Amino acid sequence: MQYPDDAVRSRTLYERAKKSLPGGNTRTTVYHAPFPVYAARGEGCRVFDADGVARIDCINNFTSMIHGHAHPAITEAVVRQAALGTAFGMPTESEIVLAETLCARVASVEQVRFTNSGTEAVMMAIKAARAFTGRPKIAKCEGAYHGSYDYAEISLDTPPEYWSANDPRPVAYSKGTPEGVLNDVVAIPFNDVAASRELIRRNGASLAAILVDPMPNRAGLVPADREYLRALRALADEVGAVLIFDEVITFRLGYHGAQEKFGVTPDLTVFGKIIGGGFAVGAVGGSRKVMGVFDPTKGKPALPHGGTFSANPMTMRAGEVALALLDEAAFAHLDRIGNAVRAGIARAFEKTGLTGRATGMGSLLRVHFADRQIRDYRSAYARPDEARKLAAFHRGLINHGVIAANNGLMALSTPMTEADADEIIAACESALQDVAAMKI
Ligand code: PMP
Repeated sequence: MQYPDDAVRSRTLYERAKKSLPGGNTRTTVYHAPFPVYAARGEGCRVFDADGVARIDCINNFTSMIHGHAHPAITEAVVRQAALGTAFGMPTESEIVLAETLCARVASVEQVRFTNSGTEAVMMAIKAARAFTGRPKIAKCEGAYHGSYDYAEISLDTPPEYWSANDPRPVAYSKGTPEGVLNDVVAIPFNDVAASRELIRRNGASLAAILVDPMPNRAGLVPADREYLRALRALADEVGAVLIFDEVITFRLGYHGAQEKFGVTPDLTVFGKIIGGGFAVGAVGGSRKVMGVFDPTKGKPALPHGGTFSANPMTMRAGEVALALLDEAAFAHLDRIGNAVRAGIARAFEKTGLTGRATGMGSLLRVHFADRQIRDYRSAYARPDEARKLAAFHRGLINHGVIAANNGLMALSTPMTEADADEIIAACESALQDVAAMKI
């Protein structure tokens, strides 16, 4: 069974999709040429496609399905909740339970506000910082993805012709981005203390927030240097800005999130993905002082915020069970298989004679076909031959039984065993052999 030639049902679905969805697509991230493989169902760490082919799922809905698919305890909780009603124009106890769970796990989080996506949560965190400080601008790292709020997506894919020495220019990601948005974003180079310090100080008086992901996937999936995060913490205090950690992905690095692993405390944290147990979710959490901007008890809040499906009990119950299953032992298991897969990929690169590496930490990894050290967006940026190798590797993985993101990102799940990790490594080795044979 070879993709794309034998993936008849996926091809047919894609042809049909093209009529009602632009380019047959409703999520840019899941598109790849000539057509994506359509999922039919998932079970544990495996996903079955529309043609009946089973593969190990190493993308897990872009890192969110940390317990794989159809986990029995999560399924039971949502089926029970569905019978009781799925959404109300009233609060439910379930939102208190999930908020308490996040507050108990993350020391910097005293209070929480739920949203329906990570994008929305990043937007509300930025708006909270603006409401709290009365200032307009944000600083964010070049190449870091934070969802699709206009301000958060600036300088996401700055092309090489815009790379000036240490002064990343804010560059629009989508066509039509208003000039005013560009004026209110300061793009800082990830992991570069001196350049970031200079830019933050220069804009200090108008900065509401410094937004940083401690291990940004699109900027290479390399952990931030501790010193970098410490410097951002000190700079936020110095200029009076709110330090926001985007832990939408990195909350899967440990029981207390990435902030505890890196030993740096933000003012606000953005969550998403795993905290919804497989359902649409986002959340902003932080100190009582900053989170007070949402408080409606004294008249119109500084930052009003609704959301028809925010904190709906389906998501809340699924999230509650998913987090309960994520104990220290689960994280230890994820770390073990993550380390094994990264080491296995390094061996596979050696065996095939190709240049490359796997970056990442814990259950997250990303394959690069680069011989440079990867520290930030620019060093991670795939040169044309590397991009061709990556596309061939991605296709090879599909044909050797693994689903990964087309940028080489993989996210492991708790149902994976050591044997599954070996299978992933073997698939990576076979896919690398395919790439080597193509002599790109
Ligand atoms: N922040 C980060 C770090 C993300 O990876 C993502 C999504 N991949 C988002 C924010 C946006 O989350 P969502 O897709 O739920 O809107």
